[in-house]
Amino acid sequence: MDATGDSSGGGRAVVVGGGIAGLLAARVLAERRVEVRVLDRDDLGSGQDEEPRRGVPQGRHIHALLPRGRQILEELFPGLTGQLIDAGAPSGDLLGDARLHLSGHRFARADAELMTLSVSRPHLESCLRRRVRELPNVSFAPAGDVLGLVTTPTGTQVTGVRVLRRADGSAEEVVEASLVIDAMGRGSRTPTWLRQLGYAQPPEERIEADLGYATRHYRLASDVLDGDWGTLQGPTPERPRGGVLARIEGDRWIVTLFGLVGDHPATTPGGFEAFADSLTFPDIGQAIRSGEALDDPVAFRFPASVRRRYERLRRFPDGLLPIGDAVCSLNPIYGQGMTVAALQALALREQVRRDRPPEPRRWLRRVTRIVEAPWDMVVGGDLAHPEVDGPRTMKVRLLGAYIARLHAAAAKDPRLACAFARVMALVDPPISLLRPGIAGPVLLGSGRRAPRRGPRPGLTSRSGDDPPRLASRGEVRR
Ligand SMILES: Cc1cc2nc3c(=O)[nH]c(=O)nc-3n(C[C@H](O)[C@H](O)[C@H](O)COP(=O)(O)OP(=O)(O)OC[C@H]3O[C@@H](n4cnc5c(N)ncnc54)[C@H](O)[C@@H]3O)c2cc1C
Repeated sequence: MDATGDSSGGGRAVVVGGGIAGLLAARVLAERRVEVRVLDRDDLGSGQDEEPRRGVPQGRHIHALLPRGRQILEELFPGLTGQLIDAGAPSGDLLGDARLHLSGHRFARADAELMTLSVSRPHLESCLRRRVRELPNVSFAPAGDVLGLVTTPTGTQVTGVRVLRRADGSAEEVVEASLVIDAMGRGSRTPTWLRQLGYAQPPEERIEADLGYATRHYRLASDVLDGDWGTLQGPTPERPRGGVLARIEGDRWIVTLFGLVGDHPATTPGGFEAFADSLTFPDIGQAIRSGEALDDPVAFRFPASVRRRYERLRRFPDGLLPIGDAVCSLNPIYGQGMTVAALQALALREQVRRDRPPEPRRWLRRVTRIVEAPWDMVVGGDLAHPEVDGPRTMKVRLLGAYIARLHAAAAKDPRLACAFARVMALVDPPISLLRPGIAGPVLLGSGRRAPRRGPRPGLTSRSGDDPPRLASRGEVRR
């Protein structure tokens, strides 16, 4: 029997953390639960606030929504893509309307059929929150810190959480629930709370890439980047720095510069622009030189990717499911976190339809499978830098060498560029890069050149081997 008197497991669910993973969890739980209550340190009550908030300091920095993530958000919130575009979010193909530079190579341009939206994290989160708030059985509690779990006397079943509201004179209170979702993000307290309840803490895997970010917003000329919506430069072992320039809602441009292994961007305006000028490709430095800076650079340190292996614990309490960054926090330069949270939301929807109440062990195994490929991509990418410690297994070394060759070949062969972009977008599985049609040209080093064609009316002229766009700018494919 749960707090709402419902023994079927369909009673109240509490979601701790109203970030992306928490909002998506609330959305799918609302299909099956009588009541869903979202608790967060920040006041998420009004939903009108589009400013960065204290609970998600990473929200000031670029938050690329990968195409697979966009597809899932559209499935969970029909019409969201159009809503964001109507509110000014640029859209376009990931490869056909933006520039991708990986391993020191500029990818051939092609339509990869990867419809992408470029929005700031606060704007996206605010739109999602508004949609979640429209669900009749979901509510947002006033700002409060969740301090711990409440369990049955044996500690085997979680029955709620202890909360202290962020208001003067508040006293600790208990919010009862038959299901608690830990969506507290990277700083989740669940490992400590489990230890306090007599459980083991989950083993942790860490890849210490010592990443530093700095971000600034600009107003730029409309023809900057020849009309592309963005450009991304990944790091190389020789030059472990990179950056992203992307147009976002409000006709602003966000510039995030980053460096691995301690090679962090400066946060003085002059130092920031000098760092942009030092990148291998000149797009970002050139674009911002003549632009109007709208704010000062803001920094963020990300010491390590962290994966908590809850699925390896012998005992785990019923009624508790961790999700999102609480389980696995990935190096953000790969832009995967929100999409991985969205994939987990789909899995949660499926599990709550099947299991009543959801069985934690099945959930944790499911999450492990979802996280596996993104984690491998981060491990492979980060371990390409000799300064980063980690197990350089034969698989890691072979795949690293293969991906470097693929990136080189993708500079000439649009088919290879598309294949890689689709894996990076989490639309296709990594194994698809080993198909004979892809592996053949990569291993033989015979990238196919993109056809040279003159500009067609309505298409921006491009230099070099750029093929004309296959989709018109701003066209929405849903
Ligand atoms: C610098 C940086 C850049 C990133 N860029 C990208 C990107 O380009 N693309 C991408 O997809 N992902 C990116 N990510 C990852 C992305 O932010 C997360 O993966 C994604 O938001 C899912 O996180 P989450 O919802 O699990 O946690 P979060 O978004 O961190 O939310 C956790 C929530 O829990 C609340 N909370 C925590 N503890 C408590 C408590 N005790 N009581 C009450 N509330 C609590 C917090 O206030 C917060 O609202 C980036 C991350 C960083 C650090």
